[in-house]
Amino acid sequence: MNNPSARSIVVSIIAVVLVLSILSWFPSPKVKDIGRFIVNCVLCWFLFKGKNWDRWVFVILLTLAGTMALFVMANNPQSIEKSIVLYVMSFSYLVSAALLVFPKTVAGYFKDQSTQTSTMICKTCGRELNVSDDPLSVDCGGDCWGCVGEIEANMGYGPSLEKVRKEFQLGLRPNWVEPKEQTSD
Ligand SMILES: [Zn+2]
Repeated sequence: MNNPSARSIVVSIIAVVLVLSILSWFPSPKVKDIGRFIVNCVLCWFLFKGKNWDRWVFVILLTLAGTMALFVMANNPQSIEKSIVLYVMSFSYLVSAALLVFPKTVAGYFKDQSTQTSTMICKTCGRELNVSDDPLSVDCGGDCWGCVGEIEANMGYGPSLEKVRKEFQLGLRPNWVEPKEQTSD
């Protein structure tokens, strides 16, 4: 599930990074500026694709860039215009870093997409494993809890039986049948 607000946050951060990167070219771009811009574009692409490692690369780089701008300001008195630019830069970088770390929706953006790339299915019933809104899809070593729980319950394993019973009452296992008590004559 792609959360639209998370996506817009990510896109805004990419825009901020690229715009500030272009602004830093002035007065005239040098070769290393172009190189850095290309690297930025590649990193932004992975960020957009929801790669979690890239999220942390961005958090580290943005925090470093943000604090460095503050450090420069603190140590070298700048002209008013330059101070404003540095202040805006460090503020945008630090806010972007915070936005990548804290909001739950943003964390979901990166989590959802990374699980999408490696979809695992239950060996028994073919159900997709570890689906966030399906409690029966929990991965029990290659089989889903839907299958494993039922087998364990039918074997009379108490904790599983209890859990399966609860799930049956919640309507999660409509086809489940209470195992017969094994009675000895
Ligand atoms: Zn299964």
